[in-house]
Amino acid sequence: MIIMKKDATQAEIEGVVAEASKYGVHCDVSRGEVLTIIGLVGDEHKVPFSHLEVMPGVKEVRMIETPYKLISREYNEAFQGKDESRIIKLKGVEIGGAEPVYIAGPCAIESRTQLMRIAEEVKRAGAHVLRGGIFKPRSSVHSFQGLGAKGADEAREALSWLREAGERFEMPVVTEARGESQVNLIAEYVDIIQIGARNMYDQDLLGYVGRAGKPVLFKRNFGASIEEFLSFSEYIAAEGNRDIILCERGVLPIGKGKNLTRYTLDLAAVPVIKRETYLPVIVDPSHATGRRDLIRTMSAAAVAAGAGGLAIEVHYNPAESWVDAQQAITPAELKDIIDDCRQIHKIVKG
Ligand code: PEP
Ligand code: MN
Repeated sequence: MIIMKKDATQAEIEGVVAEASKYGVHCDVSRGEVLTIIGLVGDEHKVPFSHLEVMPGVKEVRMIETPYKLISREYNEAFQGKDESRIIKLKGVEIGGAEPVYIAGPCAIESRTQLMRIAEEVKRAGAHVLRGGIFKPRSSVHSFQGLGAKGADEAREALSWLREAGERFEMPVVTEARGESQVNLIAEYVDIIQIGARNMYDQDLLGYVGRAGKPVLFKRNFGASIEEFLSFSEYIAAEGNRDIILCERGVLPIGKGKNLTRYTLDLAAVPVIKRETYLPVIVDPSHATGRRDLIRTMSAAAVAAGAGGLAIEVHYNPAESWVDAQQAITPAELKDIIDDCRQIHKIVKG
């Protein structure tokens, strides 16, 4: 991190950027109210810091050891010592703003009729963003992989339904990409690209999605520490994309007996991550618990813990969902949850 003097000129800033860039790093220039800070992104081992330190306009060079400096609250002046998150504005919805954001929809898109009906009903229940899986991560190759797996035409068709539902019911839409070609395709149709828990560690995929020019809904891997989760978010940020929504969705349960939940929802991660980064943090109680009877309780707890939103799987006929039927709730239940959470948020924010 190169901190420029208060009165550093534009030419001096550009001089430092030009010099540092010679060594193969990318310079991230952030102009604060008082100081301009140049963050070096990439492999820094060849950069001659002692030389940069004495260039005109440079106040000091500070080495940052944290693996996630670009997204860290501490190193970003605008958010330092504050509670606020970065706000991602999408079609009238503010993610990371004053009110929690509710993302809802089916686990998987099954048909146009199914999606339109769920979209209409979740919108009426108070949802802000519509979700729907087209490329599903599945443990078994013999189970339904999402309409996208049926072929290129089917993938485009399902994506066009998602876009249509978003337009018709005025909600930004999100779906998951598992690979590079899916990122490019999905980016043509949706407002937010999801990177699922299983792909949190895929550096190459994170690079592609960071360059796709769309906000990213980034889910924590079930075996990842918070430090790993944030370090891998940095791969997206390093492409110049800071529109990242972090999602806690549960970690692997411990012990030998039955845990009775699909994963273990790590709710302490919410306030901890909010202290570490300015990125908005949401919670997915559906995959975390895998149980529809726990969604209301854990949604309330998540908002009480300071979550900036929830991602919930909804179906008008939960038991008949093609994927994740045990955790789907009805639109009516979603409405009750959103009503609860609005009250809880009012209390929490004081
Ligand atoms: C999903 O949100 O559709 C999903 C598969 O979740 P996760 O990646 O958290 O398992
Ligand atoms: Mn699901």
